[in-house]
Amino acid sequence: MMLYVLAGCCFVFGLVLGSFLNVVIYRVPRDLSIVTPPSACPKCSRPIRAWENIPLISYFLILRGRCAGCGTRISIQYPLVEFVTGALFAVVALRFGLSFETIVYLVYTAMLIALSVIDLQTKLLPNVIVLPGLLGACLLSFGTLYPPFQQYWSITPAGAFLGIVVGGVPLLLLSWGYLKLTGREGMGGGDIKLMFFTGALLGPVNAFLTLFIGSLTGSVIGITYMKMKKAERHVQIPFGPFLSFGAWIAMMFGHDMIQWYLAYMGLVH
Ligand SMILES: [Zn+2]
Repeated sequence: MMLYVLAGCCFVFGLVLGSFLNVVIYRVPRDLSIVTPPSACPKCSRPIRAWENIPLISYFLILRGRCAGCGTRISIQYPLVEFVTGALFAVVALRFGLSFETIVYLVYTAMLIALSVIDLQTKLLPNVIVLPGLLGACLLSFGTLYPPFQQYWSITPAGAFLGIVVGGVPLLLLSWGYLKLTGREGMGGGDIKLMFFTGALLGPVNAFLTLFIGSLTGSVIGITYMKMKKAERHVQIPFGPFLSFGAWIAMMFGHDMIQWYLAYMGLVH
């Protein structure tokens, strides 16, 4: 019962935070402050009133997808980001309950959502989001050197370091090899930094799982997309959203997936 109350609270919190993520997604790639000025219609500059800022409700019931000032269509991305953030927050709460992990993973989930949408729109994963994340993950791991903190966080500095190596080095080699072979940049540095961050936060096993799930879904969807669009071979498909998806699945179910796999291989019972 308590768990469902917690999940409900996290859902509502996620909706509100998703609304803020929309601001981050719009402003960070444009180098604008995320604090000031208050949000306004990008077309007619009409400020967004408080009642027009209620997640989902404003978009569907009050504004009906249009700016109240000039009638310009508002992208479906806004309510979508709000809803996805709320839904994923609820699932994280259901999985990890009232715990320190839940707090960290909610922050991480929010960062992955913002990074994915920004990467889809701009093909960039901004340092101002990824690097503080990497720093935070390292600080958490150093926290475990203080024994009372070990009950809250299990990735030690050695685990974080291994995670950075396992998550980042394959992409580093791949991007170096691609550059050598073709003379073009294939993989952005942002993807590598995102994997440093993910590895430091989730440790080596989940970093490996992230790469595995990310490359698998990325190639399946990438190839399907190119077939459908008959796009040229050099069309750039952002890798960040796939890595983010892989990282989120690894974060949520990595432990269970590894257990299941080991049992399947007959290594544990
Ligand atoms: Zn407007």
